[in-house]
Amino acid sequence: MGGAYDGPVTEASRNPASEPSGASLSAPAAKRVLLARPRGYCAGVDRAVITVEEALKLYGAPVYVRKQIVHNKHVVATLEAKGAIFVEENAEVPAGATVVFSAHGVAPEVHEQARQRRLRAIDATCPLVTKVHHEARRFAADDYDILLIGHEGHEEVIGTAGEAPAHIQLVDGPDDVDKVNVRDPEKVVWLSQTTLSVDETMETVARLKERLPLLQSPPSDDICYATQNRQQAVKEIAADCDVMIVVGSRNSSNSVRLVEVALDAGSRASHLVDYAHEIEDAWLDGATSVGLTSGASVPEDLVSEVLDHLAARGFTDVTEVTSATEKLTFALPQELRRDMKAAAGG
Ligand code: SF4
Repeated sequence: MGGAYDGPVTEASRNPASEPSGASLSAPAAKRVLLARPRGYCAGVDRAVITVEEALKLYGAPVYVRKQIVHNKHVVATLEAKGAIFVEENAEVPAGATVVFSAHGVAPEVHEQARQRRLRAIDATCPLVTKVHHEARRFAADDYDILLIGHEGHEEVIGTAGEAPAHIQLVDGPDDVDKVNVRDPEKVVWLSQTTLSVDETMETVARLKERLPLLQSPPSDDICYATQNRQQAVKEIAADCDVMIVVGSRNSSNSVRLVEVALDAGSRASHLVDYAHEIEDAWLDGATSVGLTSGASVPEDLVSEVLDHLAARGFTDVTEVTSATEKLTFALPQELRRDMKAAAGG
């Protein structure tokens, strides 16, 4: 992995109360980069990656991980090099071995399979996904029909739907609304995947409410703080960008949404890359202002490599535009903390 970008970075803020002097977005300098903040790792991803690293230290390699721990090629390759083995299902994990469940969450049957195979299971499901699972269980227990807005086949959606399959229908965007069929229009609630486009989800909800005026909303936002903040940060800079570069993997829902949000918010082009070397010079032809951000599963080193790549092509004027400050952190899974404490003699 390359070293961190060490060129100059100017700070700017869209919050007028805290906007520093000398950083203007309206008077473009030659060949600049607008760096969105927040970007990159969220609290749930940070926790999941540290969970695997700590499990490797505590139990020794190999540690099995069911599905990609987070949807990022580089993170998965780095953990593989340290001794993690990624599998698709519990059946591939030797009986009695350690398995970590990914940040996207699993259905209850996956926990049950692990018990049957006597696996030492560590659940790295993001607590904000777990919150949606709780909501699904609670509304199902009250016999609601639950409309789960999300992308068909995404691991998080499979896990959440598995909490109450008889009560949950998937709504994969506004075009799916006409397929919805509920038993009692007065007893129906929508929930959502945590990493959706806020705007598209609101469009889907508006269409659902045309059909189901008494549709209830989740008790609190299901689209998580990190997804919302990264989308907002992109919206703040998109109209000033000739091209937006989003660092992230193709199977990362929140990263793909950032590409779409950038285009919707006025960026003239928008591209998703795992690594700096994937940036095509043609994308930068004639561009004087490049936006840069990264998905919630992307380590900052990969962004630094993109900054180096852009600097080598004349984009040396870097302004970081901050739209929110994040301080959230999550404790490691309790089963891991318990074993770490025991190992430390505590
Ligand atoms: S994107 Fe949101 S829900 Fe997903 S791991 Fe990060 S904080 Fe949790």
